[in-house]
Amino acid sequence: MHPKYLDFWGNIDGKELKILRGVLKENFIESEKRIVLKNDKGIKKILEKAFICHKVEDSKIYFDENTNYVFRIIFDLDNKKFDEINENDDVFMILNKISNIQIRNKAPYFMGTRMGRPEKSERKSMKGVHTLFPLSDKVGSTRLVEKGIEFGKVKIDVCRKKCPRCGNKTIFNICSKCGTHTEFQKICNNCKKLFPKFEEQCSQCGKLLDFSSEASFNIKAHISSVLKSLKMPLPKKFKGIFGLTNQFKVPEPIEKGILRAKNGLLVYNSCIYEEPGLSF
Ligand SMILES: [Zn+2]
Ligand SMILES: [Zn+2]
Repeated sequence: MHPKYLDFWGNIDGKELKILRGVLKENFIESEKRIVLKNDKGIKKILEKAFICHKVEDSKIYFDENTNYVFRIIFDLDNKKFDEINENDDVFMILNKISNIQIRNKAPYFMGTRMGRPEKSERKSMKGVHTLFPLSDKVGSTRLVEKGIEFGKVKIDVCRKKCPRCGNKTIFNICSKCGTHTEFQKICNNCKKLFPKFEEQCSQCGKLLDFSSEASFNIKAHISSVLKSLKMPLPKKFKGIFGLTNQFKVPEPIEKGILRAKNGLLVYNSCIYEEPGLSF
């Protein structure tokens, strides 16, 4: 069975599984094909141990539709006959004996790690930057997005991406036309031709291909359409960056920055965590 529909059966033993199966059989309402259990302390403990989602209401325990269905199948609740369970057997041996579906251990091991000290991480703002969207250095040291809008178009070094569904070319991760996740393209900075990601050389001039190239981006049109869809005005003193420094030069969706600016949040450039007890 797919792990999505599996509970953490490895957390309980054969004895607990036997008890659980007993009450499930007993409290399976055939006409409604669902299970309603009495809120018994011992049963609730078993459910919690196996991380089984359940709801307690009016001292009764209920399960959602999926769980009802899955339990009906794997515990063979339609079958009136109650076969003997040897509680000393392994849980999965028992489960596979009563069910025709193979059930495996969803989580044989649990691993934990230390979280460090979040309170030690300093708020280091990037000089009041709201959005990791490149504006080019022409906007001046204020890095105001409205300066870029004044220019209409800005010359920026960005990636080239293509929508695998509708073929739309964009610089963003999500296709603005159909919402599909876009794929990286390579570009020849000599011929300005696009190539699939796995190509290394331009077939036309032989130059090595890059992941980014300078583009004249109409920031004015882009922001006005974004503001329209967000139904918001341009935030005051909304600041971006000169250029992108990440390897593939993917700009951040400007919507994120607008929402940061609206709520007075900034982009943070680092977080400090200490991991004194962590050893691998
Ligand atoms: Zn598309
Ligand atoms: Zn070329």
